[in-house]
Amino acid sequence: MKKSEKRKKITIRCRKCFMVDSYEIEEKKEIKCKHCGSKIYKIDSI
Ligand SMILES: [Zn+2]
Repeated sequence: MKKSEKRKKITIRCRKCFMVDSYEIEEKKEIKCKHCGSKIYKIDSI
């Protein structure tokens, strides 16, 4: 039995536009806001 790919999805609030959305977390990859394009920080997850 194969498990699906390990993809963590977390909900993060953007520091700039305060929009909340879920983002897939990949190591060594920057996350950018879907709404304003600014950098998203994992520590802002809610
Ligand atoms: Zn934003």
